[in-house]
Amino acid sequence: MPHSNEVLSIRHLRKAQTDISHLTKPDMEPSLDQLRKNYERFDDNKLTRIATEEAAGLRPEAVDLLKQVIKERGLSGSIIKGIDAQLQEVDDRILSEYAELLRGLPCPLCKSTDEKLNATMTGSVISFIIMTNYQKELKVACPNCLDKANDRAMIKSALFGWWGFPWGIIRTPQALLLNNKMKKQNRLSEPNDLFNAFVLGKIGRLEANRNNPTELQEIIEHIR
Ligand SMILES: [Zn+2]
Repeated sequence: MPHSNEVLSIRHLRKAQTDISHLTKPDMEPSLDQLRKNYERFDDNKLTRIATEEAAGLRPEAVDLLKQVIKERGLSGSIIKGIDAQLQEVDDRILSEYAELLRGLPCPLCKSTDEKLNATMTGSVISFIIMTNYQKELKVACPNCLDKANDRAMIKSALFGWWGFPWGIIRTPQALLLNNKMKKQNRLSEPNDLFNAFVLGKIGRLEANRNNPTELQEIIEHIR
């Protein structure tokens, strides 16, 4: 059958065309209608979380839509401000304003307000024969509590880190070094780099809650 190849190739071409038209359909990312349905399905908490923590990752039409849905729900206007804060360039003045706002709060661990808060990273290693777990954790607290957190992580690693081969032997000194290095930043009078990075990452929630001490406290108590 001399024509069969040709027929086959035309059929293939047609199929390829449908595939392409399917691929180029605008529904590759959710349409605005679809997006609206999604937003409407979310409860107020989830909507607030997206608005104050994830707005920077949304396309501009989605941001507008999100603002619209928030207004329709009658949610606080400060949430809209929280969206805008994430989309703006954050200059040093704004950053240090937010940093000072948080640093004056009571320490989430000991509740003291004697010293301004700062941030540290703890590194703890726990090994069990061939399994080694290296966990890094960001903490926001007063300098005394930060020191204690680093000390605890070092003691824990020194006691339980070494016993894994090979990672326990490799990770344990790394963790001890990390805690030691971090401790040097715990008592700086200004916010350390880690604290500033933390503030920058929370800029939307901070703006939305700048006059809400309970929610500000929540931001430093439950770091996620
Ligand atoms: Zn404390």
